[in-house]
Amino acid sequence: MSANNRPVLLRNGLVLTMDDSHTVLPGADVLVVGDRIAEVGHGLTAPDGAVEIDASGGIVMPGMVDTHRHMWQTAMRGYGADWTLTQYFVWYYLESGKLFRPEDIYAGNLLSAIEAIDAGVTTTVDWSHGLQSADHADAAVDALEAVPGRFVLAYGNIQQGPWEWSTSDAFRDFHRRRVDGGRLAGFQMAFDVTGDPAFPEKAAFEVARELGVTVTTHAGVWGATNDDGIRLMYENGFMTPGTVYVHAATLAADSYHRIAATGGSVSVSTESEQSAGQGYPPTWQLRNHGIPVSLSMDTSVWWSGDLFSAMRTTLSADRVREHLEAHGKKETVTHHHLRAEHVVDWATRGGAKALGMDSEVGALTPGRQADIVLIKNDASPAMFPILNPYGHVAFQAQRGDVHTVLVGGRLVKQDGKLVGTDLAAARAKVGATLDHLRETLGEEAWQRGMNPDIPEASVLENPYQYTEYDAGSAQWKH
Ligand SMILES: [Zn+2]
Repeated sequence: MSANNRPVLLRNGLVLTMDDSHTVLPGADVLVVGDRIAEVGHGLTAPDGAVEIDASGGIVMPGMVDTHRHMWQTAMRGYGADWTLTQYFVWYYLESGKLFRPEDIYAGNLLSAIEAIDAGVTTTVDWSHGLQSADHADAAVDALEAVPGRFVLAYGNIQQGPWEWSTSDAFRDFHRRRVDGGRLAGFQMAFDVTGDPAFPEKAAFEVARELGVTVTTHAGVWGATNDDGIRLMYENGFMTPGTVYVHAATLAADSYHRIAATGGSVSVSTESEQSAGQGYPPTWQLRNHGIPVSLSMDTSVWWSGDLFSAMRTTLSADRVREHLEAHGKKETVTHHHLRAEHVVDWATRGGAKALGMDSEVGALTPGRQADIVLIKNDASPAMFPILNPYGHVAFQAQRGDVHTVLVGGRLVKQDGKLVGTDLAAARAKVGATLDHLRETLGEEAWQRGMNPDIPEASVLENPYQYTEYDAGSAQWKH
């Protein structure tokens, strides 16, 4: 990460440090020297040549962390807005997914990476399970390295069994070339455990152990992965600290106990779980098991790519479940368990902890990497007054209010505009990818994929609905 030559001083903002005691400092400054935070406090002196940024009327917080995003799929942004998981699997295994060439992976990753930093997401896990060849994997990393954000590559290939790709020479070679000494912020292996009693995934876990990398896995996904996968991992000694369980929605208490006891964490993608059908967003259960949470957006082929949406939907999903459970017992919830402060923590510090990066990012404390977001929009009526800062971030602010972003001390967005990023190039590459996919699939399949059939439904008969009024008897008749 190359740093600015000049120090940066964010002046007079409402600073959410997200440090261990969640210190909030109104009217405070944050000084960045080189790639790190030098000082946080009031009335700091600007070093010679510092870039001063007026943060008054705004909120300064750590850069957000997304622990699970299939970045390559951003090339088809919004295409699957009306899908369930079933349509996604058809698209992925049988249609567009397998047609992605290395340059298409590059295009999707490039646009997604730019989108991440623009929205204040300074660290993103690229859950890259479309890596059908070493060329695809190189293209994924090339795109991530072309954008000045922090990216963790979670390597996967859903077109093969994990025991196949992970044990190949090509994968070993890729790991040597691009991970050791490369510019990635981290590396994980990404694959799912089906629950097959033969546990063929064991070979992939052994590779992960040998290479010393963590595993991220879609667990507790209705109809795809379940408690058997968790049990097999546990019985074979592969539920290790640092393992990230994505969704973890459709699981029994016993699986949550195993995750909690072995030092794992859960990446919750509420916007995804709410409409794809993995299961109910699980934070209301994770809270009861003491399982650490991070947030993620999953994929922009369906949903948004910003963590404001993740915070908002996660807070709401947890609360509506709490109310619903209580109403089922004829009880009333008078105080919410989950607070806005919790989801802001999950979107920043929680993500850093899940990725083992907590000593470097996730909070605004001296010595940490300067990954910083300033939320400020003087033209917006929704940015005044700011009374409850955590509530403001979770329920009032949005990506358009992201004014300034620093990654490792480097200004990557300033005054609402990206700096040093070629969005036009990404747009052209994505355009070429869409031409390729559309031509290969044909227009009919393209349209069908985007517009799944609506199941038949009829409106219930309504006993209060009458058709005729008899004026003589002054009554409605059926
Ligand atoms: Zn996913």
